[in-house]
Amino acid sequence: MFSYRCTSCGRDYEITSHLFSCSCGGLFDLKPYEKTFDTYSLPWSLVRYAKMLPLFGGVDLLKSVSMGEGMTPLVRDKTGGYLKLDFLQPTLSYKDRGAALLVATAKALGVTSLAIDSSGNAGVSVAAYARRAEMLAHVFVPETTSDKKVRQLELFGAKVHRGGDRDFASRTVMEYLETEKDTFYASHIYNPFFTHGVKTLFYEIIEQLRDDVPKNIVVPLGNGTLVLGAYEAVADLMELGVISNPPKLIAVQAASCDPIYRLVHSDRLTQRDLDSGSTIAEGIAIPSPPRGSQIASLLLKNDGDVVVVSEKMIRDAHSKLLSAGVDVEPTAAASYAGYLQLRDSDGPSDTTVVVLTGAGLKSL
Ligand SMILES: *Cc1c(COP(=O)(O)O)cnc(C)c1O
Ligand SMILES: [Zn+2]
Repeated sequence: MFSYRCTSCGRDYEITSHLFSCSCGGLFDLKPYEKTFDTYSLPWSLVRYAKMLPLFGGVDLLKSVSMGEGMTPLVRDKTGGYLKLDFLQPTLSYKDRGAALLVATAKALGVTSLAIDSSGNAGVSVAAYARRAEMLAHVFVPETTSDKKVRQLELFGAKVHRGGDRDFASRTVMEYLETEKDTFYASHIYNPFFTHGVKTLFYEIIEQLRDDVPKNIVVPLGNGTLVLGAYEAVADLMELGVISNPPKLIAVQAASCDPIYRLVHSDRLTQRDLDSGSTIAEGIAIPSPPRGSQIASLLLKNDGDVVVVSEKMIRDAHSKLLSAGVDVEPTAAASYAGYLQLRDSDGPSDTTVVVLTGAGLKSL
């Protein structure tokens, strides 16, 4: 029914294999499965899209793990664009969508202990859902993760491993998994169930705008789960005839940490040029994204784009959002900064949705 499929060599693996990458080194997507865009008889949460999701453990398990994530407001902005307030979620970031599905899958596999490395929010989401599903979460975060996010982790009973930079967190989780063979790697980057939870964000936008299919969707870009989720959703909706014109995806990186920007805007698709910088947008401070090449290829193939924003633009965008009564964390403000930059250069634009991913309270 459901299988992992290697993005490099195409080999399939059982979900029960507990592997998180192929023997060739490639990362997993899911093998295509049957979907129906039938949304009406179901409750208002991720469960609404049950017939579109890879429910390895069945719909009742998702219902028991779900905390009503998703179904977030889409509001009109003064500029004429739309803001998708996707930080209005159980743990205050969009990552709850992915965590709900990933943790439900882990539960179906009989997992009791899981591990994740994260800049903060993915760890918080997985910790909350893991707690609810009665699993122990080990969360590896860099030293720079906001204290508020670390506090969230502690409140949810996660075992917090904090230290070093983001790459150090990735290395230490791998070492941990080497010794703790029974621990499930609940990675939002490696495990494709996460992305399939995230794709519901884009189903919602399409439903909320009805006949006015957006021309552009703006998302922040760190590891690229939003970009992957968006393209999963668009492919699904095109295939099922729900939409006929795919929106253009515009991904936003911080100018001081822009590895995927450089992949997209150079002719060579290699990950060799990646290097690091720092930014207040901690959720997209990802110097070497494991799926960097995949994300860059997807954007190029689908006529998407990547833009970069400076630290000052991020701060200014945050102030503009605050003046509209909306408080987000800097990573989400980067998304809005990218949008404002495009608007300034292109003049009045077509229907554009800006995805706001994390709440301001997380970074106080
Ligand atoms: C994780 C995160 C992002 C970036 O998502 P990626 O999947 O890493 O590209 C953006 N905003 C917030 C608030 C996040 O937590
Ligand atoms: Zn492979």
